[in-house]
Amino acid sequence: MSAPIAIAGAGIGGLTAALAIAGAGRRVLLLERAQRIEEVGAGFQIAPNAGRALARLGLEEALAAVALEPRAINVRRGRDGQVLARLDISDSRAQWGAPFRVFHRADLQQALLQAAQANPEIEIRTGARVGEFDDAGGLLRLSVHGAEGVAEIEAAGLVGADGQRSTVRAHLLPTERDLPFYSGRTAWRALVPAELAPPALRARESNLWLMPGAHVVHYPLRDGAIINVVVIVSEPPRHAEGAAILSLDGSELARLLDRQRPARDLAALIEAGASWRHWPLFARPPLKRWSRGAVTLLGDAAHPMMPFLAQGAAQAIEDAEALGRAFGQLGATVESVFAAYEAARIGRAARVVRASWRQGEYFHMGGLGATARDLAIRTLGGRGMLARNAWLYR
Ligand SMILES: Cc1cc2nc3c(=O)[nH]c(=O)nc-3n(C[C@H](O)[C@H](O)[C@H](O)COP(=O)(O)OP(=O)(O)OC[C@H]3O[C@@H](n4cnc5c(N)ncnc54)[C@H](O)[C@@H]3O)c2cc1C
Repeated sequence: MSAPIAIAGAGIGGLTAALAIAGAGRRVLLLERAQRIEEVGAGFQIAPNAGRALARLGLEEALAAVALEPRAINVRRGRDGQVLARLDISDSRAQWGAPFRVFHRADLQQALLQAAQANPEIEIRTGARVGEFDDAGGLLRLSVHGAEGVAEIEAAGLVGADGQRSTVRAHLLPTERDLPFYSGRTAWRALVPAELAPPALRARESNLWLMPGAHVVHYPLRDGAIINVVVIVSEPPRHAEGAAILSLDGSELARLLDRQRPARDLAALIEAGASWRHWPLFARPPLKRWSRGAVTLLGDAAHPMMPFLAQGAAQAIEDAEALGRAFGQLGATVESVFAAYEAARIGRAARVVRASWRQGEYFHMGGLGATARDLAIRTLGGRGMLARNAWLYR
């Protein structure tokens, strides 16, 4: 039997890549360092560009069962809640070939995991941390660290889908001087029971509130029972590491936004969050290459980005589909497959990384800049705003 394609990391990117590569007829060994494959808390938007890819992988039914489809995205002025533009997304199936969907992260991950577990071409090992690798002699040998020590595994190729602080990336490109750096912005995330939210904010719609130095995104999940709220503020780092280890209660978080004087409903929504988790946002500059020989990168390992276009996982899903397609079309050598995959994806992913960064600057404007921005949003209107992002969703 030929050696499998190994994937390091069973996040959204690694799981989707496993399904796409197995769909192209290759055996996959999915190695996850955590003991259990689970996403904690918070919500997730899946834009039509990723929705189409997931549907093509046969996941439409499973995802439709756990998703909510918001009717609109309201772009609001933070200080008084005035709607600057209403983006009607109720016809995005017709327009973009897939709906805008929102998920509880755990539900999306479970749907992908179940599909991977049901696929006989995919073997999943948890408690398996990929370390160094060596590709001398044509076959790749990976060191996999587990409870029983270090095992050597042979693979035909390795996909590093091991997230923003990727070990595979560090071994693949040891000379890159591109350690993650704090972006100057932090996300605070909470799930608020819908009955505690102001009635005006319980609709099956997404909302984006713009304020100087901050913005807030919220949308309902699980049939409207809970509201996922993300508050993003420009602030100095609270600690050096990227993990979500701090939390604040609602009134502490509301105090963080004192300077912005948010509208009453927004302030009430924030105060209703019992526990806000701290998520400092780290960035890395786009890479000039993702692959070397039979090793490549995917998702946040390849192109971590600011979450302001809600495209990080969507781009990981696009990567996964492109990788599966390259295996299906070329197949001959893993090296040629990875080279074709990289060529197909690296330019677009870098464009999304840059656009996501700019979006943060735009959202956080103050003073005259904010006045001009709000006028431009009003003038563009919902249709114009959606058309501006057509390059992303198409
Ligand atoms: C506040 C916020 C909101 C966001 N909202 C959205 C959104 O609405 N829509 C969207 O598309 N994106 C969104 N994103 C981005 C999205 O969360 C990420 O881009 C996406 O989760 C990346 O997936 P991944 O599989 O590449 O990496 P990860 O999810 O980081 O998964 C990496 C996996 O690899 C494992 N791992 C790490 N090292 C090793 C190793 N050495 N060996 C084996 N396993 C290893 C980890 O345990 C983990 O399971 C948001 C991000 C943030 C911070």
